[in-house]
Amino acid sequence: MRTIIVGAGIAGLAAAQRLADLGSHVTVVERASGPRNQGYMIDFFGPGYEAAQRMGLLARLRELGYHVERFSYVDEHGRIRASMDYQRFEKAASGAIVSIMRPDLERALREAVDGRVDLRYSVTVEAIDNRPDGVSVTLSDGSALDADLLIGADGIHSATRAATFGPEQAFLRFLGLHTAAFVFDDPVVHDQVQDGFFLTDSVDVQMGFYGLRDGRVAAFTVHRTSDPELPADPRAAVLRTYQDLGWLTARALGLCPSSADVYYDQVAQIEMDQWVNRRVVLLGDSAYAVSLLAGQGASLAVAGAYVLGRQLATTPDIDRALAEYVRRWHPVVTQRQLIGRRGASWFLPASTTQLRLRRLAVTAMRLPGLDRWLGTALVGKNHTPIDTIALGTT
Ligand SMILES: Cc1cc2nc3c(=O)[nH]c(=O)nc-3n(C[C@H](O)[C@H](O)[C@H](O)COP(=O)(O)OP(=O)(O)OC[C@H]3O[C@@H](n4cnc5c(N)ncnc54)[C@H](O)[C@@H]3O)c2cc1C
Repeated sequence: MRTIIVGAGIAGLAAAQRLADLGSHVTVVERASGPRNQGYMIDFFGPGYEAAQRMGLLARLRELGYHVERFSYVDEHGRIRASMDYQRFEKAASGAIVSIMRPDLERALREAVDGRVDLRYSVTVEAIDNRPDGVSVTLSDGSALDADLLIGADGIHSATRAATFGPEQAFLRFLGLHTAAFVFDDPVVHDQVQDGFFLTDSVDVQMGFYGLRDGRVAAFTVHRTSDPELPADPRAAVLRTYQDLGWLTARALGLCPSSADVYYDQVAQIEMDQWVNRRVVLLGDSAYAVSLLAGQGASLAVAGAYVLGRQLATTPDIDRALAEYVRRWHPVVTQRQLIGRRGASWFLPASTTQLRLRRLAVTAMRLPGLDRWLGTALVGKNHTPIDTIALGTT
């Protein structure tokens, strides 16, 4: 079997590993000029964690991951208004959680396919001839490829989806927020943050910091807006929007890199009834972005690749395998999307009342006995093991 994967992000690389393990000849095309080194911290738990364990990735993820001590909400004067031991999260997730920078997660996945797949950077797909029995593509470097299957893993603004299923606006649900992330070097901020996760205790606009082991600091921002349009100059937008938060934020904004090194996007979900069209199948954010509100997009990207790989391994007929992937995986991500939308005001309070409620909730979570509740909030009510989803009769 020959497979083309569009996108060397989390979903694309995880799928590449599964397909390479099956003995497929895999070509991955990636628009970026090389592996990215900017990004944000990902809490990796839930189905993707289980899948990563099955895929033999966990030891490397733990090696590259971070041990976060506490997460705290801090006011404009630097006073901690609410905080909680990260251990509570770890306990609620039964230890099955790792905090890892997005570039490091991609690195671990890339290492797992090193030498086994044809990985091409600075390449996009220009044209797709999608037939009932295979695909032919023309690439931006002028070359052409034939394959049995094409996997679109090119993220929330997927060009594969647009070319095969139609324009983005038919599937994208804007959630009324913009997010940004950047990494900067500053010993003063790093010294204050160290191995904690600090977030501003603020309404409608929020900034957070993680200290990295190389002395840098990862900053992430989220703010409420009714305008889905992205700014022409993301750096200028970040400086303007987050200037009044006090505490360490002015210092961090002063060190914000140029727009090319700032991640900036809408917070949105992708909702589709169908991810398969003949021999093109979508995976990860391109098919079912859940948004950072659900906190599991990376996890669901890896787990989706695992489920898809399992179907292709156990069902000899490719079309039936693709249909099974959708049948088994669609209900799981739909549920996570709903949970994500419901948690929006918890993630970013829209009023001082919601802010106070969040403080109370975080403080209450320190109480003994709330682990089960927290566990449910993290991994969902009825936890189904990934192998039951991938293989069991559902
Ligand atoms: C601030 C923030 C915090 C988050 N925190 C968490 C968290 O704590 N836990 C969690 O599980 N998830 C988290 N997520 C979500 C997670 O990052 C995404 O869900 C995940 O990256 C999706 O993986 P993906 O591979 O589907 O898409 P992406 O990571 O977007 O990868 C897509 C890849 O395709 C490439 N590409 C795009 N277009 C083309 C093209 N035309 N041709 C070729 N290549 C192309 C891109 O360059 C990229 O490499 C967070 C997201 C944000 C923004």
